[in-house]
Amino acid sequence: MRGHPGGVVTRLVNSAGDFPVEAVHGFALANARYVQQVHGGVVRSTESPSGQVAVVLGGGSGHYPAFAGWVGPGMAHGAVCGNILASPSASQVESVVRAADNKGGALLDFGKYAGDVLHFGQAAERLRAEGVDVRNVTVSDDIASDTPANSAQRRWIAGDLLVFKIAGAAAEAGLGLDEVERVSRRTNTRTRSLGVTFGGCTLPGADHALFEVADGVMAIGLGIHGEPGISDAPLGLTVVEPGVGDHVTSLDMEGLSLTITFLDDELEQYWIAPIDTPAFRRGAVTDRPARSGVIHATEVAAVVPGSAESQALAGRLTAAIRAMAACAVENKTRLGGLDAIAGDGDHGQGMVLGTSDAASAAEAARAAFAGARTLLVRAGAAWSESAGGTSGALWGAALTAMGNALSDSGDADPDALVAAVRQGAEAIFRLGGATSGDKTMVDSLVPFVDALATARASGASLSDAWADAAAAAATAAEATSQIVARRGRARTHGEHSLGHPDPGATSFALLMAAVAAELAPSTPVTGELT
Ligand code: ADP
Ligand code: MG
Repeated sequence: MRGHPGGVVTRLVNSAGDFPVEAVHGFALANARYVQQVHGGVVRSTESPSGQVAVVLGGGSGHYPAFAGWVGPGMAHGAVCGNILASPSASQVESVVRAADNKGGALLDFGKYAGDVLHFGQAAERLRAEGVDVRNVTVSDDIASDTPANSAQRRWIAGDLLVFKIAGAAAEAGLGLDEVERVSRRTNTRTRSLGVTFGGCTLPGADHALFEVADGVMAIGLGIHGEPGISDAPLGLTVVEPGVGDHVTSLDMEGLSLTITFLDDELEQYWIAPIDTPAFRRGAVTDRPARSGVIHATEVAAVVPGSAESQALAGRLTAAIRAMAACAVENKTRLGGLDAIAGDGDHGQGMVLGTSDAASAAEAARAAFAGARTLLVRAGAAWSESAGGTSGALWGAALTAMGNALSDSGDADPDALVAAVRQGAEAIFRLGGATSGDKTMVDSLVPFVDALATARASGASLSDAWADAAAAAATAAEATSQIVARRGRARTHGEHSLGHPDPGATSFALLMAAVAAELAPSTPVTGELT
């Protein structure tokens, strides 16, 4: 018999007064394979090994299938069945314990309810006086009933199942009374429940429920002896089409998550709408005709040739990007390792993919006689396209911004290049939103741009200024090991990053050193930059 909110419940009760006794009698007849009736309740109808601890459960009646329904191999040896939602008497408890005893002592497991505590307590004392070793363990799982500080005073609800099942299995495994008692207590300290009710129960013979809960309301913190909830709250949750399974995974990582979206009428209609995809299907989607014809990828616009000076600068830039790509390959493992400390370990790979595709794009543009602007814009697009990750997007944007600060027709003036580098840096600040001290590439980028400008202002050649700036970036990158990350993926695991330099700041410094080596006068030059 089960009611539900607003539903009709049908009961067959011969006489309200006889209900508890008749219910136990009928239960024993229907389950003779498991139990037999004794005064006060039921015990196993099967043999138990001599010396096995007898686990005896109990409490009032009306909690079906607790407690008689839990008597059998692997769980209880006996159950005391009291009056409706009221404690059994001490003599009922004694009677069931005697009938269940296997000469191994008895564990009385029952819920923290004043009546049960008193009657089971009395029974235990009398049995001890007769020489039976008896221990009492109470269940107190209901977190709505008292504070954590008073957890031992909490009342019980469904936590019984866990505490009793585990105690029963411990007895079945042959553990002694001390151990079965310990395991049962330990289970209780590790068990919590919270109940909500939508309406009270109706006692046999009564014509109305003990209490009512308004439609659309739930009472939080129900008790199972007819107690209403402790506080009312709107009945918020109706589960709509739950999706249980593998939906968003991380390769072979093991784990689970619970996601709740609070739907309203608008969102609900879309959540339940039909869908037909490889991994998610729901409802019926009408057949769609297959797409015909060839699907063309977007064409890339042809390169408009740049001026001779701009093409020469484009040549130097291509060489610089190639040097960065070689440097990324050389440092791939180291960068990946740094990123694995507090990030996702992909920084080495991202830098290799980004720089190598940027180099290929630059070479292709150069083969089509591109000027500096077109070449950098295309290299930047290729970088963010293939690198993936935060740093790839920022590097790509920086190269594109650098390109946009140059032209395809102007001359290759070193100061224009320095100004373009500044524009590239600005793009990283703007898009990433990081500032110095956040433990990102910005920490080596800022000293780099500053040192580059200072050295140029004091008359250094571009290659010397670049070398100074790269050295400043390297020192700054190393210093990031003293910072806890405040941005990017590493923020989540901030403390892990302490003592290790930031991967993005490190790769920036390494790449700038590679460009410095490429710019050094010993390198054969094709354009006039110094
Ligand atoms: P992802 O974190 O997406 O996996 P990468 O591993 O390629 O990207 O790059 C990580 C690096 O990106 C960090 O070490 C940091 O230097 C840089 N970074 C992360 N967030 C930012 C940001 N908001 N601004 C500048 N740099 C950032
Ligand atoms: Mg990463």
